Amino acid sequence: MIVIMKKSATDEQIEGVVKKISELGFVSHVSKGSERTVIGVVGEFSKDKLKIDPLSLLSMERGVETVYRVSKPYKLASIENRPEPTTVYVDGVAIGEGKFTVIAGPCSVENHHQMITTAKGVKSAGAKLLRGGAYKPRTNPYTFQGLGEEGLKLLKESKEVTGLPIVTEVMNPKDLDLVLEYADVLQIGARNIQNFALLKLVGQTTKPVLLKRGMSTSIEELLMSAEYVMSEGNANVILCERGIRTFETATRNTLDISAVPVLKKLTHLPVIIDPSHAAGKREYVPALSKAAIAAGADGLIIEVHYKPEIAISDASQQLTIPEFEDLMKDLKKLAQVLGKEM
Ligand code: PEP
Ligand code: MN
Repeated sequence: MIVIMKKSATDEQIEGVVKKISELGFVSHVSKGSERTVIGVVGEFSKDKLKIDPLSLLSMERGVETVYRVSKPYKLASIENRPEPTTVYVDGVAIGEGKFTVIAGPCSVENHHQMITTAKGVKSAGAKLLRGGAYKPRTNPYTFQGLGEEGLKLLKESKEVTGLPIVTEVMNPKDLDLVLEYADVLQIGARNIQNFALLKLVGQTTKPVLLKRGMSTSIEELLMSAEYVMSEGNANVILCERGIRTFETATRNTLDISAVPVLKKLTHLPVIIDPSHAAGKREYVPALSKAAIAAGADGLIIEVHYKPEIAISDASQQLTIPEFEDLMKDLKKLAQVLGKEM
């Protein structure tokens, strides 16, 4: 259920409704918009316990304008819960409506020179956040699995040099505390998008979470994963479309560009695109990136390496720094036409 408070509702009335919700055995999630406060109510409705419909009980509370049931299985992530788009802030960098925020950096953190050189390159081209994997979800267990803590330290040093906040993946619940010391955004990779234990744990933190759609995850399933994080109390969720598996083999995955307008219709959360893992080949990355901004995405996460030909992972899809610079110039022109701030 969603409780919409009147514009004139006082803090005391909002607290009264929250108290009532808790007395009825539900959990409330309060979101204070610029216009009015909306309270998401989650929990099981037991007809035996409650003789009167909780919807009517809450409708009678002071300061309440209207109460309605959310038709979707995801509640907090739903646009019905919060019609205003959510902006997620990372160290002062905004990801959300009206902005086009580019996250860039290598697939994996490999060594000091690679990381610092690439970080400086993407920063000067206009990236607002730095990506890099210290824990890598590799298909083959005999290939490079990431530098672990050493990689996290290199990310920290890159942040000190460039000022760019860090986006990095956490794969294993046992690494979460360590990753939290270094990451500004916790990335949940495509392969872990339905690792519900991990989702609950990142939901208990206050760090922004970047959720990458799985290669065979429906849009509704992606939103249910967001709901797992949000239902634990963390509303700072960014969704990412990174290509899904289809019969097509010309690209690594098929970028589901429709996911952008569909998600924009269903959720208030920011939506970004990963053109690198979608394409799998660097030559297609610029076109997919431009499609992303045109389709209404709020940003990109894109793989860039100072020397992709020697990259330890995903060598074929990482852009060189000059290629990334060219792409950023094109994106800035498009952003201007589309009225987005970059
Ligand atoms: C990544 O971003 O490094 C990555 C492994 O992507 P995905 O989880 O989308 O495959
Ligand atoms: Mn990669």
